Amino acid sequence: MREQAHLNLLHQVGALASLVTQSEDIDSFLQSAVEMVALHLRAEVCSIYLYDETTDELTLSATKGLHPDAVGVVRMPSGSGLVGRSLALLEPICEGRAPQHPDFRYFEEAREDGFNSFIGVPIHRGQSRIGVMTVQRKQTDAFTAMDVGTLRTMASQLAGVLENARLMMQHETHAKRPAAARTVRETAELPPILKGQGAAPGYAHAPAAVASPSHALLLNGTADQSDTYTATDLDTALQATADQLVDLQAELTSQLPESASLIFSAHLMILKDRSFRNKIHTRIERGTSVPAAVREVAEIYITAFEQSPSAHLREKAQDVRDIAGRILKNLREPDTEDGHAPLVGAKIVIAETLYPSEVLKLAADRVCGVVLVSGGLTSHVAILMRSLGLPLLIVEEPRLMAVAEGTPLIMDAHLGNLFLDPAEAVLAEFRRSRAAESAGRLNVTNQQAITRTSDGERIHLLANINLLGELTTAQTLKAEGIGLYRSEFPFLVRASFPSEEEQVAIYKHLCERARFGPLTFRTLDIGGDKVLPYSHAPQEANPELGLRSIRFSLKYPKTFHQQLRAVLRAAVDLSDFRLLFPLISSVDEFRRARQAVEVSLKQLQHHQEPHHDAPALGVMVELPATLGIIDELAAEADFFAIGTNDLTQYLLGVDRTNPQVADYYRSDHPAILRALRRIVEAAAAAGIPVSVCGEMTHHPQQLAFLVGIGIRTFSVTPSFLPRVQRTLTRLKVSDAERFAKKLLAAGSLADVDALLSAAAAPH
Ligand code: PEP
Ligand code: MG
Repeated sequence: MREQAHLNLLHQVGALASLVTQSEDIDSFLQSAVEMVALHLRAEVCSIYLYDETTDELTLSATKGLHPDAVGVVRMPSGSGLVGRSLALLEPICEGRAPQHPDFRYFEEAREDGFNSFIGVPIHRGQSRIGVMTVQRKQTDAFTAMDVGTLRTMASQLAGVLENARLMMQHETHAKRPAAARTVRETAELPPILKGQGAAPGYAHAPAAVASPSHALLLNGTADQSDTYTATDLDTALQATADQLVDLQAELTSQLPESASLIFSAHLMILKDRSFRNKIHTRIERGTSVPAAVREVAEIYITAFEQSPSAHLREKAQDVRDIAGRILKNLREPDTEDGHAPLVGAKIVIAETLYPSEVLKLAADRVCGVVLVSGGLTSHVAILMRSLGLPLLIVEEPRLMAVAEGTPLIMDAHLGNLFLDPAEAVLAEFRRSRAAESAGRLNVTNQQAITRTSDGERIHLLANINLLGELTTAQTLKAEGIGLYRSEFPFLVRASFPSEEEQVAIYKHLCERARFGPLTFRTLDIGGDKVLPYSHAPQEANPELGLRSIRFSLKYPKTFHQQLRAVLRAAVDLSDFRLLFPLISSVDEFRRARQAVEVSLKQLQHHQEPHHDAPALGVMVELPATLGIIDELAAEADFFAIGTNDLTQYLLGVDRTNPQVADYYRSDHPAILRALRRIVEAAAAAGIPVSVCGEMTHHPQQLAFLVGIGIRTFSVTPSFLPRVQRTLTRLKVSDAERFAKKLLAAGSLADVDALLSAAAAPH
């Protein structure tokens, strides 16, 4: 029963998304939402109260079950009544006999008599208050804890849409300000070949699509001022745009269940907004051409969003550009084969920076590849691109942003080459190497279930999973389990914070498909270069040294407990389940994390919720501080997982995302190599397992070193499993030990380089 409820959750989210699609405007959306929630929770009343910060008042904005005349009339300050209290505390309130509660307030206009059971949940995004959603029933004590959970989920989904709706209503006050001056692009000639770094492997041959400095795609590239279009053409284009967004949303949900794809809901809401449409029509009636009218109205909204003090809302300007670009495109190309051409489509996107959520939009839009003019190989956008199987090239050349739209490009993210407007001979060579690569691609059937070195030493090969879709590759390529599940990815690719129930649904999916071996679940590792697009956290001068990873979880214990409960519930019947804490810097921090697990277990026991009750608890060894206390950590932790990506970054003081210092970022630096040996010794002395899950394992010689110092468990990107297995099967442990010993004696990078080039690289 409960199981079924979890499975239904994503459907509910889908239902909300389709409400956005079907509603004419915001009021009708709110009305449909309350009706749907009332039906779903079998409640006689469901209402939404929206909050206005300027007056500090909540107003009844939609209701099913209370008197319709009360809409817009019933108001209360935040903090007043059960509804106001729920918002002030940002907590749900569930009362079985609400009228007897001292905080209960009766509103004559609403005809609220006789409703005893009450739940009120706040609708908010972080600390930003949006409103309250309530359900009521006549019967006393009618609602369960599960109903509260469901209502919270619905409220969290509504939050993004409503925040946007509220902004749409308020934007007029900002609209009159002048648009910001545009930066002049450099137009200097570029050489025909540019050298960069391949951050996610693959090839692509396609025309360029340049994202403007504020990431906008194509609004600038659609300078079609034709006045031959009619208002009917506009309506057709608006409809085609809406259909296209609905399809994109559906596609994302099927490709990436964890995104619960409300990513396009803000777009749809703007598109549905009556005043957005009216403004365009008014301009057309006054004689403005249709494309110019779309552009002008889009600019009004863009300016309003861009001037918002919140980074999260400034990002919405991008959504408006995206919509305007799509409308203009659908205007120009009305009857494409499937009726709605993608905005970008089969192109190579050139951008300055991208957020993970934008990467997802591009993936859903079927782009062929991305060229970034900044960013690093181990940045999380690069990791996400690899998970999605899309090539990514980082080319430090700002003039690329001035490349003409549609310029033919070839990107070879294996060798790090970008060809602009390639000659026929280059094209022929590209086709040849591509064909050779697919012919020589490692045969999956060669992949062995068990990995042994050439002298028979058993090695365990596990997979690093970011997106649920990668589980298939991991299993096909015979991973023996999951050595690292980066649980922040479902948080990163969504439009709002997932509730506990949504997390349970995602983690169940994970646990059900990860039964083939151990599952190592890393708790939220956000911050640093993994910024939640919907976070209201203040900007940090040094995010890599800031409130990230376990520090975030410990600062927000409710969020931490919520994630722990969700995963413990989902992992209820897993035999080998491990929890891993990222960025641990002290024994004390590890103890606090362990205590959070204990608290979560107690909460689950108290609510008689089935759960896994004895997960192994591990430390992610990735900060220099751990080295000084490694024996003490080994004495308390059940296992170590070494994160060489961050260990390298922090030990060497080199930003892992900054291409300017990429040459300094070396995991084979003597300090790193010696640190690794120290960690392995401490784990061995304490008798706890140790694995490596950083990308050092992708380098054959560094992998040989790791085997040489005694590591026998590696967790790697799924697509790297064949390569890593091949290296290991050709390796002899005694050779690896000799190699490691020599490397450990090297005191300079020059000595390391000399040894690496002298050694026959084990491939
Ligand atoms: C690491 O730091 O090596 C690691 C595996 O974690 P992430 O890349 O997610 O920081
Ligand atoms: Mg890390």
